[in-house]
Amino acid sequence: MGISKGLLENMRIAIIGGGISGLVSAYKLSPNHEITIYEKSAEIGGLLSSYHREKYSIEKYYHHFFSGDTSFLNLLKELNLSDRILWLKGSTGTWVSGTLYPLTTPFEILRYPHLSLYDKFRLALFTKKAKTFDTIKLDTISAEKFLTEQLGEKIYRSFFRPLLNSKFGQNAEKVSAAWVVSRVAIRSDRSLGGERLGYLDRGFSLFIKAISEKIKECGGEIRIRTPVISISRDENGWYVNGEKFDAVVATIAPGLLRETGPDIPEVPYQGAACLTMGLVRPVTQGIYWINLYDDAPYGAVIGHTCFAPRDWYGEDIVYLASYYSGAPSPHLKEKMIKDFCRKFSVRNEEILWAEMASDPYAGPMYLAGYKELMKTVSVPGLVLAGMFSEENYPERSIEGSVRAGLRAADEISHMARKMEVNM
Ligand SMILES: Cc1cc2nc3c(=O)[nH]c(=O)nc-3n(C[C@H](O)[C@H](O)[C@H](O)COP(=O)(O)OP(=O)(O)OC[C@H]3O[C@@H](n4cnc5c(N)ncnc54)[C@H](O)[C@@H]3O)c2cc1C
Repeated sequence: MGISKGLLENMRIAIIGGGISGLVSAYKLSPNHEITIYEKSAEIGGLLSSYHREKYSIEKYYHHFFSGDTSFLNLLKELNLSDRILWLKGSTGTWVSGTLYPLTTPFEILRYPHLSLYDKFRLALFTKKAKTFDTIKLDTISAEKFLTEQLGEKIYRSFFRPLLNSKFGQNAEKVSAAWVVSRVAIRSDRSLGGERLGYLDRGFSLFIKAISEKIKECGGEIRIRTPVISISRDENGWYVNGEKFDAVVATIAPGLLRETGPDIPEVPYQGAACLTMGLVRPVTQGIYWINLYDDAPYGAVIGHTCFAPRDWYGEDIVYLASYYSGAPSPHLKEKMIKDFCRKFSVRNEEILWAEMASDPYAGPMYLAGYKELMKTVSVPGLVLAGMFSEENYPERSIEGSVRAGLRAADEISHMARKMEVNM
């Protein structure tokens, strides 16, 4: 994939956003071009950035990857990180009416009292079939309509609707069937002992560090705490915050990009708030991922140290996850902690630390008809690549953002070759 220096026209390229999409395009372009990454936060990594505690780093938002994430796995290989990949068991459970039900093994699923045997059978068949559905055709159909037709009103109301509510709130009814089917399909590769999910030894900060070092080694510049506030163009090129470039790769939400100048269509986004806690003891009964079906200011509890080894951290790590539209509810952190302590019988003094991360642009809302919004924007010299783009449809992921970054780099390289031919 690498291009040797000197073959192509050397261009000055501004990359807006230092998340995965921006870092990957910078990594690919920096051997041949003069790259400047603009990142508004105090650190790079975007949604995959980490808290740096005294003895360890931990992602601000829980993350894992999948065996089918081939572009990400290839990138790890290029960065000499393959030996840091771990495939760990991702056990699951459900919290209903004050009780935690493990749902990892077939026996646990059979024992689960809130669905009949027939409903479980229908769900299992649907999960197996999920990979065969054509998501393009499902884009304009709502998840509610599709799931009710496929599985009946009862399974939709009792099983899927609470999950959609916790993720999309008032927009739950408008979510596309394509999104739901892709979520089910990605989780359908389960063995009898549950799913194997990818994680990096000691966390993803290793990957962010490795890729940013490569960019810097090739002369790329990473400007943190530098939000882009204006992008404009004249016959000589592009201007980012007044500085001249030959081309721009924009990886930020289209709505944010519009605010800086370019006239591009908006894509609806949702926000995520994620509370990370260090605890003195395990509290999720050994379960990694728990979906909550009861009323709570969070929709999922993620027992990170029931997934990654506890001894890396010397304490238990738990995430509480919540999605929102617009702004998170006031005092969300306090409300989450209070509810969590009550439900999981945790005393306040057992929480060693708690940090809240919140981002109103945590992912596009894949409402029915989303594909129409993604119509290619063709502005010469401006390449769009991020969570909103084709590679991340119908659900954003690390893999999707890696692929978006690679495509952006290809487009710029193609542009540079054309410039060379025309000279
Ligand atoms: C709670 C949660 C859990 C997730 N879990 C998983 C998972 O387990 N597996 C998985 O595959 N994916 C997961 N994801 C998705 C994954 O994190 C994203 O798809 C990916 O990190 C997006 O990378 P990106 O570079 O496209 O966008 P971002 O990470 O959003 O990067 C955009 C960057 O642009 C910066 N920026 C914004 N505006 C400006 C500006 N004006 N000027 C300069 N910089 C700006 C932002 O600060 C940010 O750093 C999860 C996401 C969330 C929210």
